[in-house]
Amino acid sequence: MPLLYRWYQQHQRPLPWRTSPTPYHIAVSEFMCQQTRITTVLPYYKRWLRRFPSWSALARAPQSVVLRLWEGLGYYRRARSLHALAKSVLQLPHRRLPSDPQKLLQLPGIGHYTAGAIASIAFNVPTPAFDGNVARVLGRLLARGGCTPSLFELRAVAAALVPRKNPGTHNQALMELGALLCLPKNPLCPSCPLRSACPSRLRLPQRANPRPPPTPLREHILVIRKKQSIWLTRQHPSNRWRGLHLLPTTPQPHPEARHIGRITYPFTRYKITASIDLLSRPPSGWRGKWHTPSQLSQATLPAPHRKALALLNQLGNLQNHHEGGSLPSRHQHVLACR
Ligand code: SF4
Repeated sequence: MPLLYRWYQQHQRPLPWRTSPTPYHIAVSEFMCQQTRITTVLPYYKRWLRRFPSWSALARAPQSVVLRLWEGLGYYRRARSLHALAKSVLQLPHRRLPSDPQKLLQLPGIGHYTAGAIASIAFNVPTPAFDGNVARVLGRLLARGGCTPSLFELRAVAAALVPRKNPGTHNQALMELGALLCLPKNPLCPSCPLRSACPSRLRLPQRANPRPPPTPLREHILVIRKKQSIWLTRQHPSNRWRGLHLLPTTPQPHPEARHIGRITYPFTRYKITASIDLLSRPPSGWRGKWHTPSQLSQATLPAPHRKALALLNQLGNLQNHHEGGSLPSRHQHVLACR
């Protein structure tokens, strides 16, 4: 694939882990980039390396500090797994990650794709890194009669294509092509180095297994306020966001709560519509603590719960500006945010 490699040399994005592809840097970048855009990841990656420059610095940190640094990146299981991985690495010979993908697979948070990426990019081991971008590029290149091969077949092709020389460059070039040109919708085929060999450049094939739409889910997020303090818990009815500070969330409305707005957010395969409801005392049966504004700024909350608090602040500002202090209901609709 010399055309692909030449294109990659000229057009690859200047990502910080590419200039210093140590096993630690590649592992951190791979954990952060799962299901997250690279532009979102970049400031987190730089901040993370300043605070945790090595496996041992990460392993020594309390989980609350690790989660705090991850706040806003979502999918907190990745942060907990990366933390667990750092602790495991310190138990390994020479306190280093192994280069063998099979051994990598036995470590916390490492699946087939991440094992392939770390082994090929950081250790130059000829093994595939098969992610959604690679599946899409290969699927389109190998499409016949408007249909792509199955994922099983594409995985086998990806493995057979990896060269012994520079396997990391090969894997990254395929992924970069998928990220920059072979986009899910409207691929930029005229700029593609593989267009002359691609049967999909004029008409995209059907996806073998179209992704089902997200399942809608409704919930109530309770903002419990006493003067300037907010009550936070660690409990969630679905055991979501373990280790984080949370606003209490319930499937049903609380009889004493006042609806102040609405947010929607994606979570795994769900599209969640949350009613934000204001309450003055904690609901019975919940454990938690009051947090002053300065404690609140130090707490680690998931992005939707920060959004709910921002909504409360907006409401307060509008009330301050409104004569008489009571907010007309038409303004409450304005506050519904997405
Ligand atoms: S020609 Fe178009 S569809 Fe084919 S690999 Fe390139 S970008 Fe993807």
